[in-house]
Amino acid sequence: MKYKELYLYGAEKLKNAGVPEAELDARFLLEAVCHTTRNDMLLYPDKEVDEKQKEDYVNQIRKREKRIPLQYILGKQEFMGMEFYVNKDVLIPRQDTEILVEEAMKHLHDGMHILDVCTGSGCILISLLHYSNDCQGVGIDISEAALSVAKENAARLLEVNVENHLENQQKISFWKGDLFDALPEMDKFDIIVSNPPYIETKVLETLEPEVSHHEPLIALDGKEDGLYFYRRIVENAGKYLHRDGMLFFEIGYNQAEPVTQLMKDMGFIEVNVKKDYAGLDRVVYGTYLPMDSL
Ligand code: GLN
Repeated sequence: MKYKELYLYGAEKLKNAGVPEAELDARFLLEAVCHTTRNDMLLYPDKEVDEKQKEDYVNQIRKREKRIPLQYILGKQEFMGMEFYVNKDVLIPRQDTEILVEEAMKHLHDGMHILDVCTGSGCILISLLHYSNDCQGVGIDISEAALSVAKENAARLLEVNVENHLENQQKISFWKGDLFDALPEMDKFDIIVSNPPYIETKVLETLEPEVSHHEPLIALDGKEDGLYFYRRIVENAGKYLHRDGMLFFEIGYNQAEPVTQLMKDMGFIEVNVKKDYAGLDRVVYGTYLPMDSL
């Protein structure tokens, strides 16, 4: 079968399945299978695709028809200029989350210790370490499967050994457990970052099938009012932050106010909200300075 014919077949299938960007996805999948670029469609539309590649493409189109996200099929997503490995065990890194990374970076100094709560693919923590000097990071998550993805990303993108051991010089380590319970020892950090699950349970089913049927529910579900994890993290964060340490959250568009309040109630000052490129509230951060420490 010819290259362009195969593409048209894929695009048609995806369109019929209601995939939003059917043509684009059909092309991306074809390029991934055939190791080609966008130019190939223009320059060599009639070149023959071999049988094996055709078979692979048809299989991938079938997956995409079932609304499996493109990123899971390709096994990758770009974030902060790096290519992260992803699979169905982790949330696909979102562009909006780059706002959180960029804000945290403005406050990050050489040698700081960073904790990433609900690390998932590790995209936030790994980016912060990649773009800073001599910082150390700890990522925690309740999902063992997510942590293996994070470790794989750290090993490849930071070129480090991520076998866990409690030694001080380790650039990055990952621990499994329920929020802070995951930490193997009482440790204090300069910065805590988190993009916790924050979608209200009843909203989950209204999301695109790519999200609601294929991304890990535990990475999305913020329980009844969506604020469950913010409450638990804010209530405990103080114990794990140096005085003057900072907490950065990604939030949903309607959560700036309650999250700001939670932080103020627990001893955070200078609590700020940052918007995303769509003009929606996306990040809340503040400094831990409880009154009784003054
Ligand atoms: N920290 C990861 C991300 O931002 C995963 C977040 C999550 O699982 N809720 O993509």
